[in-house]
Parts: sequence; structure tokens; C-alpha cells
Amino acid sequence: MKKSLIIFILIFMLASCNAQVNVSQPVITSTEEMPVIIETAPEETTVREVITTEEIITEPATTIAEPATEIIEEPAETTIITEQPPPAAVQARNIPVFMYHTSSENNPGGLAELYVKPSEFEKQIKYLDDNGYTFCTFDDWFNLHNIEKPVFITFDDGYESNYTEIFPILQKYNAKITLFLMLNNMAAENFTAEMIREMNDSGLVKFESHTISHPDLAAISGNDAVLTRELEDSKKQIEELTGRPVLALAYPVGRFNARVMERAKEYYLFGVSTIAGKHNTGEHDNFEIRRLRMNRSTSLNAFINMLGG
Ligand SMILES: [Zn+2]
Repeated sequence: MKKSLIIFILIFMLASCNAQVNVSQPVITSTEEMPVIIETAPEETTVREVITTEEIITEPATTIAEPATEIIEEPAETTIITEQPPPAAVQARNIPVFMYHTSSENNPGGLAELYVKPSEFEKQIKYLDDNGYTFCTFDDWFNLHNIEKPVFITFDDGYESNYTEIFPILQKYNAKITLFLMLNNMAAENFTAEMIREMNDSGLVKFESHTISHPDLAAISGNDAVLTRELEDSKKQIEELTGRPVLALAYPVGRFNARVMERAKEYYLFGVSTIAGKHNTGEHDNFEIRRLRMNRSTSLNAFINMLGG
């Protein structure tokens, strides 16, 4: 009986040694590689699963009929960190990027859902302000890991109401937005260069590109000259208008394909889509940035759910 117990202990010690070596090996390499990431996102590192040697030992012991209590007296002081998340997972964030178009309190046009009530918009901005959100633009994208509660408010196309109804609310709450400008829309919508410059110079509105004529870029992706005009010329013209670098393109009607993305990458850092949902910085491509659509019928509660969901 004694002899068999000694043999058992020897077998067990060998087994537990192997177990320790196997589990601890990836930890050494991954912790060496990741000091910067742990520093930038300390709250994320606490998610790591910590397993003590004691927990590892109990597993094989239960499969053997011998009493396990004596055997577990081995020193179990070293903690082994397993499941070290990859760098992308450490940095990954879900970013809410809201999408608006135009506004009207009482007189929505044909596509009524595009016309958010300014009074509702103010409630949404006030909620974000009251709850400690930071209003970001694409200039802030590579600094998002330093911002606790980032939120993006984006408007597509460019309308006079963006100036007359939305801009005063932004000034009241010191809230920043991104405005994706479709250059050919300006005259039709009475959205003037003076309005654009005043909004730009306030520092509250960052103008980005929504092309010149709002084409379905996927449909014209075979015509390189047209694609260049829409992508490159719109960027140049908006930069001339505002004096600030244009970093992002919102695909008109949300349409793009691999060729459009490839060409957009020549001029922009971001391609903004209408794919619904929060944008996950670890999982989703910067040229497929997702957005949360805001409609006239979207209630404040629905807005808050989108923000938290
Ligand atoms: Zn549009």
C-alpha cells in the first residue's frame, strides 16, 4: 500500500510539473510582448483569468481513487495567468457613431424619417452631456483609448437646417459633430460656404467628405476617372473650403465594394458606412465603420438603448 502511494505521488509530481510548464509557457512570451498595451488599457487587463496551481492540481487528482488531500499539500504559491487576450482584444472598443441627416420641428419633407425634431436632438445631446460622454470627431480616432466614454454624432449630406437648427444646440452644449458634405447639395439646400466656414471655425463641426454628386460608388467603381473625381476632388474642395484636412469618407447611400474601399484608402483614413450597429475597433475595418441610424420616430429611450447596447 505504501509503495503504491509513493509511486502515485511520483507520477503525480511529474504530471503536475508538466502541467505547470505547459500552462505557463505562453504567459512568459505574451507578457513580454505586451507592456505598452497593458499600460494604455489597464482596466481591460483585469479580465484575465487567473488560475492557481491548486486549481490545476485538483483536476487530475479527482480521476484517481486515492485520497487527494495529502497530495495537494504541494506549494501552490505561483499564480499562472492563462488566456492572455491578444492585443486587438485588449484595445477593442465598441464605439457609438450616430447618423443623422436633416431636421424640422413641424414640417418634415417627403422622407419624414430623415427629419429629426430639433427638440428631440437637444434631448439626446443633453443626455450625452449629462452622462459624461465625450463628443468625438475622426480627428480623435487614434486617441480613443484615452477617452472613457466616446460618442460620434454624424450628419450626412449638408442642409441649411444643420446651420439654422442644429448648430445653435451644438453651441449651447459645446458638442462636436462630423458633417459629411455632399458638395453638389449645397446650392439646392441653401447650405452656403459662409455657413460652412462659420461652423468649421467654431471648432464644433468637422467637415468630411460625402463626395461631390452622391453617386452609388459601387456602381461606378469600374470608371476610375469618375471615382477619382468623387473621392479626390471632393476631399480637395472641402479642404479648400475649411482649411482642415479631410480624413473620412461616408459612402453615399451606404454603397461600396472592394474596389471602392481600395481607392478610398488612397485619400482617406476612414470609410463610413450605413452598416447598423456600434463600431468595434477590434473586429471591424476602419473602412467599414458602422453607424446607428437616428430617425424622426426614434425615442429618447431607444437612443439610450442604442448607446448602451
Ligand atoms: Zn447621403
